[in-house]
Formats: sequence, C-alpha cells, structure tokens
Amino acid sequence: MAVCKSRAFMAFPSTRSQQPSTGCHSSHYAPQTQQETQPDRPIGYGAFGVVWSVTDPRNGKRVALKKMPNVFQSLTSSKRAYRELKMLSFFKHNNVLSALDIVHPGHVDFFQEIYIVSELMQSDLHKIIVSPQPLSSDHVKVFLYQILRGLKYLHSAGILHRDIKPGNLLVNSNCLLKVCDFGLARLEEPRESAIMTQEVVTQYYRAPELLAGATNYGQAVDVWSVGCIFAELLSRKILFQAQSPVQQLNLIINLLGTPSLDDLCRAGASEGATKYILQKGHKAPALATLYNLSNQATHEAVHLLCRMLVFDPKKRITCTDALSHPYLDEGRLRFHTCMCKCCHTTPAGRQYVSDFEPLCTSKFDDSYETSLFSVSHIKESLYKFITDRHQNSVPLCINVASPSFKSFQSSGVAPQPEQQSSPQLW
Ligand SMILES: [Zn+2]
Repeated sequence: MAVCKSRAFMAFPSTRSQQPSTGCHSSHYAPQTQQETQPDRPIGYGAFGVVWSVTDPRNGKRVALKKMPNVFQSLTSSKRAYRELKMLSFFKHNNVLSALDIVHPGHVDFFQEIYIVSELMQSDLHKIIVSPQPLSSDHVKVFLYQILRGLKYLHSAGILHRDIKPGNLLVNSNCLLKVCDFGLARLEEPRESAIMTQEVVTQYYRAPELLAGATNYGQAVDVWSVGCIFAELLSRKILFQAQSPVQQLNLIINLLGTPSLDDLCRAGASEGATKYILQKGHKAPALATLYNLSNQATHEAVHLLCRMLVFDPKKRITCTDALSHPYLDEGRLRFHTCMCKCCHTTPAGRQYVSDFEPLCTSKFDDSYETSLFSVSHIKESLYKFITDRHQNSVPLCINVASPSFKSFQSSGVAPQPEQQSSPQLW
C-alpha cells in the first residue's frame, strides 16, 4: 500500500513555497500547517553530532534535529550510532530524551548520515551552571529530582549511561530536564567476572572505582556523577577538577578520606591502585567542607550528597533510595504540580499519578548487536530499522537544496573540550 506515500520535508526550506529538491525522491511536498518565522539555527553539539533547531513541517512545531555524521566510518562508529538510535527509539519517559522521528535516509545507496528529530530543549545544565542566572534552592531540588527520576528509569531498563555530566542534561525554559546522549551507554553486565571498558565518563564526573582501575562496575558509576553534579549545582564550581585521572582520585580521597582495604576490594580497585592509595599515608575525611559549597548546602542537602559520594560503590545510595530522601520532597511536589505529563489538573483539583517515579516496563534488549558483524550489514539493518518506522506515518525528508541545509551540512563535529581521558595504567 505504502508505495506512493507522500513525504514531509524538514524545515530547512526558508520559504514555505520552496519546492523540494529531486534529490529527496519525493513526489509531494507536504505544506506546513503553521507560519514559522524563526530561522533554523544550531543549538549545540552532542557527543558526536551537531544539533539544530528546526520546524517539523507536519505540525509546525519547533524540534531539535541532530546529525550523526560519519556513521559508517568503522564498525565501532556504526555500532555506537545503531545503539543510540535503538535506545532513543525505545525510551518513553519525561526525563529521558527520545527520538520523535528519524529522517528518511532516501535511497540506500546514498545512506551516509542519520538525522534524528527529538524534543527541542533550549539549554543544558552546563550552560545554566556557568551562566550568571540565579539558581535557587528550588531549582537545584527540581533539577536533581528529575536527573534521578530519569536515571532510575534507565537503570530499571538495565542501562548504564556512563557519561552523566551537566552537558548531557538538557533543560528547557520551564526547567524540564532530560537525560541525553547515549553514545556510551550499555547494558548492565550481570557477570561479575566480565571485563568492561574503563574509558567511560568524563573525568571530572568519573567514579573512584573507575579511576582505581575496576574492570567491572554498575549503576553506581552514574550515581557518583550525579553526586558531583549536585555539588556543582550548589557551588556552581566543578567539585573535583583535576588534570589527570590520578590527581582526580587524589582529590576524591582528600574529601572522603583514605578508603579502607575492604572498600578498595569491593570497588574492584586494581592491585597497583590499592598499593598507591594505601602508601600515600592516611587522610582523614573532610566531608564537613561540603557545608561551604553554598548557603543552600543545608543539613539535608549535605546528608544526601554524602550518600552519593561514597567510595565503595556497593555502599553508595541507589537512584531509588535517593529519590526517597526528604531533600527531594519539594522537588517532587513542584515537578508533579506543574511540570510533569503524568498528573492532570481537573476542575476538582490536581489528580496525582500513583507512581511518581515509574520503572521501565521492560529491559532494553541488545541481542540485535550479536548479529552486527560488518559495517555493510549494520548499514542495511539500520536502513531497514529507520524505514520500518515510517510504515504508518508521513516520512520526514530533508530538502538538500535549501541554503540553511547547506550550512547545516558543512558544520562539522564540535571539538570536544571534555573528552574522556585515558584511564591510568596501574
Ligand atoms: Zn506527575
């Protein structure tokens, strides 16, 4: 049936009457339903893609368009793109970014880049923290609540994000927050003997077990990052800002004190790291200095922070338990009173949902990865995955002739100031 289906062209045409280029293999131009005067513009950079603000011609809504370039350069890059695409299509949670659509790739022979459409989020937590705009205690609480709410959902789906940092927490003008960038995400490893890569998490937010050479780790690495971000929200300064992974570990020990041998064992610290830490001489904990982060560092705030910044990952608080900490009660109330999509206001008053922090209904399934053995096979499989999504909808396509598309196309990948530094070889 779907042979002659029309396609809608992405917002790149700057005038509504502009005809699509024949390069898009389309027979129809779906007119925009609303006037849209805002120009298309770049809004930021993801881990390996450029993000633009554009208009969805099917409904006139402003959305974000992310280009994933050089997807098929290597087996690793194609697998990574496929995983991010699968995850973004799987998520259904208000505090986790999801794909609203994926632009039709045209003919398979010209399939080189992937364009993902997602909700438009004007800012991110990094931009907000370094901006001069005030951050009240209410802001901190509602942001932290949403980070943990999104992360609880991801963890319940069996997913470790592995790059939680302020720049990967998108925020819109209503303070709604969404966790994004799943380029480093993976499924939890159930086998404790399995070797996992240590080249994850931007150094400032990297958990001590990773810095100490643990080759097997879990959800607690994300919670550590949230703890660092919580402190950064309070003080507007990076909590542990070191030049190298070893110095990073030293800064952590300066605050938490020297971990015990048991803590180091449970963290999975390597022999070299354990020797280094124990030979350094005993450091007493200096957690009381957390009260100096800001005048918003109340007893409740510091109590929760100290439960996140725990050296031993097995003793570190989980997202679920952190969400039941009294510090987050006000954030929860604010979120569900005026920001969420799960509760509703009726003439009788606000009707609250029964489960404020829902789990994912199923685990993310990565079994498709076992059959991805070559770039060409991934390309074929990805093409099918994207075009199958368009079976029952008007597929989006890009007008390659539009000047703003040309400018978008030529914008390369941004330099990464916060690349994951290589782990210390202990
Ligand atoms: Zn709600």
